Amino acid sequence: HQASLGNLVHQRAKTLDDWEIKLLANIELPSDVAALKEVGADGVGLFRSEFLFLNRRQLPDEEEQLTAYKTVAEGLLGKSVTIRTLDIGADKGLDTDEYVTPLNPALGLRAIRYSLAHPDMFLTQLRAILRASAFGSIKLLLPMISGLDELQQALELLGQARAQLKERKQAYDPDLPVGIMIEIPSSALILPALLPLIDFVSIGTNDLTQYTLAVDRGDAEVGHLYNETHPAVLQLIAHVIDTTHKAKKKVSVCGEMAGNAKLTRLFLGMGLREFSMQASQVLSVKERVLLASIKKSRKKANEILNLFEQSKINAKIKELNQKTH
Ligand code: PEP
Ligand code: MG
Repeated sequence: HQASLGNLVHQRAKTLDDWEIKLLANIELPSDVAALKEVGADGVGLFRSEFLFLNRRQLPDEEEQLTAYKTVAEGLLGKSVTIRTLDIGADKGLDTDEYVTPLNPALGLRAIRYSLAHPDMFLTQLRAILRASAFGSIKLLLPMISGLDELQQALELLGQARAQLKERKQAYDPDLPVGIMIEIPSSALILPALLPLIDFVSIGTNDLTQYTLAVDRGDAEVGHLYNETHPAVLQLIAHVIDTTHKAKKKVSVCGEMAGNAKLTRLFLGMGLREFSMQASQVLSVKERVLLASIKKSRKKANEILNLFEQSKINAKIKELNQKTH
C-alpha cells in the first residue's frame, strides 16, 4: 500500500467534484523539510519553533533563529512556511536557569503567555521571523491565544519588532500574514472579535480537545476521556471553520486530527480546505481526498454534527469512510 501511495506524490489533492485541497506538513526542525519534500506537501502549515529552544541552557539568539527560519523558507522554494512563535510550557519546558515549571503546566505560563511575560525574548523571535520573511513566503502564527487583550498585546510587540528593524534598515515582508491558533474554547467562542485583527486561523485540535474536555492530553490515567470526536469538540471546530470563512479568511487544522485519514471526509464536509499534518500522513490523507465528494461529505458531516451519542458519531464516521465518495 505504501508503494501505491507513492504514486500520489506528484498528484494534486483534488476531490471528485474538483475542489483543490491544500495538504501541508508540520515540522519541528529545519532538518524535517526533507521528509516534507518526499511526500510533495504544499508547504509548512506548522513550524513548532520551540524545538529550537529545547534541551539547551542558553536560548538561540536572533542570528541563530534567523538562520533556522531562513533555511526552511529558502528550502521550500516559494511554498509557504507558517512559523509558530514559541509554545513553551506544558510538556515542553525550558532548561534555562530562569525557567520555573508551572504549578499546573497545561494551565500555567505557557505559549503566548510565556512570550508576553518575556518581551525581550519574544521581540528577538519576532525580529528573526520578520527578517526571514525577506527570503521566502513566511506566515506568523501565535499559539494559545485566549482573548482579545492577549492578541492586541502580541500585535503591539510585533509592531515594535517591525519598528526596530526599520531603524536598523533590515528588510522584512511588510505584508507578513499573521494568524492565531484556536486551541482554547474561549477564543473559538469570541472569534468574531479576533478575526478583524488577523489574516488566518489554525485550529490546534490537540489542545482544543484537552481544554474543552478538561483532560490532560499527556495523562494516560484519563486517556480514555481524551476524545477528539466528542460532539463538543466537533461543534467547536465546525463553528471556527464557518465563522472564519464567513469573514473571508483562511482556516486550517494543524492538530493530530488533520493527519487521521479516517476524519478527512468529515473535515471536508465541515468546509475545511487546508490541512497540516505529519509528513508521513500526507499521502494517506491525499488518497481520501481524491475519492471524496464535498457535496456528499457535507450532508454526512451535518448529520454527525447533530448527534450527541458517541457510539452513533463513531458509527456515522465509519459509514462516511466506507463509501467510495
Ligand atoms: C495542537 O494543540 O493541536 C497543536 C497543533 O499544537 P501542539 O500539539 O504543538 O500543542
Ligand atoms: Mg497546541
